[in-house]
Amino acid sequence: MLYPLKMNPIYKEAIWGGEKLRKVFGKAIPSCHTGESWEIACHQNGMSLVANGELEGKSLKEVLDIYGEEALGTEIWKRKYGKFPLLVKIIDASDKLSVQVHPQDEYAKIHEGDLGKTEMWIVLDAKPDAKLIYGLKAGISKNDFEIAIEEGSLEDVLNYVDVKKGDVFFIPAGTVHAIGEGILIAEIQQNSDTTYRVYDWNRTDDNGNSRELHIKKALDVISFSNLAGKEKVVGKLVKEGKNTRNYLISCEYFSTELLEIHTESKESLNGERFNLLIFIEGEGSLEYKNGYISFKAGDSFFIPASIGDYFIVGPAKVIKTYIE
Ligand code: ZN
Repeated sequence: MLYPLKMNPIYKEAIWGGEKLRKVFGKAIPSCHTGESWEIACHQNGMSLVANGELEGKSLKEVLDIYGEEALGTEIWKRKYGKFPLLVKIIDASDKLSVQVHPQDEYAKIHEGDLGKTEMWIVLDAKPDAKLIYGLKAGISKNDFEIAIEEGSLEDVLNYVDVKKGDVFFIPAGTVHAIGEGILIAEIQQNSDTTYRVYDWNRTDDNGNSRELHIKKALDVISFSNLAGKEKVVGKLVKEGKNTRNYLISCEYFSTELLEIHTESKESLNGERFNLLIFIEGEGSLEYKNGYISFKAGDSFFIPASIGDYFIVGPAKVIKTYIE
């Protein structure tokens, strides 16, 4: 009988990483340059292990191989994705990330044997003057962009956006982007690890080496449509008694809700699709028909489709993700 599976995170070091994963969530990160915590991952570059119950120590892939339809749900199962479709991370950008773009599905399949990557960010914390890069300044064409790369003036064509805690961004594949310094985000994305780096701020590591750029592939996939002014997701906020549910994003790859729970919230699963939960504030328990499991901020769970109704007993803020 499946139950809510708490996932053990996988940590990734990065030159731009920091210590917030430990400071904010008490995570046992390996160094003071930890950039990413892969919270729910089923990818060759990172595989979550179950942290609780009978299945403790099994990988998410093993669980899905054994329980297939029962875990994923009848609707998701019959789509035959070939691999688990989502990847969830918490990212600590102590320094800014490279300016980058991710390919669309078709391009990624041909050139990388990977999925494309459409992603979204929920800002968990940001320093007072934090900024990120979302798309290009209005009117910048492919030609303008190529000239800016050649002339070393790329920073002038990027669209900078002010960021504060609670902001939400949707980043379709093909959108140039970079998380700025002093930003902690939760990221929900397609299960892909393909990034084309366009510009790395002329940074070098301790040995004087700069990171590889992928300009040609980036130019193949960048969308030059104008996104300026449409950066932040507003969502649709619904009051549910003392709780609120904000429907943030619903796209072909994932749907995401942000729940602010002061009492408890009933979530219904009818066997068709799984849920992913990322707790970002508070603590409490997850109650389901055969038991309960406690949670705290920074914990992430795979909720099997077969579990039926379950309750999140707060107070807590939680990001709930599923595939429509
Ligand atoms: Zn990205």
